[in-house]
Amino acid sequence: MSEQNKLLAQLDRYWECLRCGRVIDDPATAKDLGKAGLGWGEMISCPKCGERGSKERFPDARFRPLFEMLVECFQLKREILVLILAQTTFEAMLRDLMAGLLYRRECHDDITFAITNTLRDTSTTERFIKELTGETVHGLFKEVGFKDNSSNFQTNPQ
Ligand SMILES: [Zn+2]
Repeated sequence: MSEQNKLLAQLDRYWECLRCGRVIDDPATAKDLGKAGLGWGEMISCPKCGERGSKERFPDARFRPLFEMLVECFQLKREILVLILAQTTFEAMLRDLMAGLLYRRECHDDITFAITNTLRDTSTTERFIKELTGETVHGLFKEVGFKDNSSNFQTNPQ
């Protein structure tokens, strides 16, 4: 396996429980979900909430090209592009997190669209997420393998 593929394989360790919205970073559960095939892993309990709801890979497949570009730029030693792509990816995933939070609260699509379009800057989005969840984005990162690295992104570690 090439170094690029080894780095991208790291993406396969995370799953998202669509019931509670938590990212699952548990190798045993990831292995079971990887073998579950079709059915969205509904027969496998979420280690966070215990429910057997649907799960999907995290991050969503539409973010994978960004991660592929990140790895490629890293290997080409284009540090500034890695930083720009990392911040862009972070901001896109933050908006996705916010949309997921609103979806689980049964917020109408029109309202979700209006909110995500209105909250354009990262710090306002982070404050909004804290109001919804009671947790900071910095704290949420710590739960999923970014114990020391979340300060590398432009966040509000309150
Ligand atoms: Zn769950």
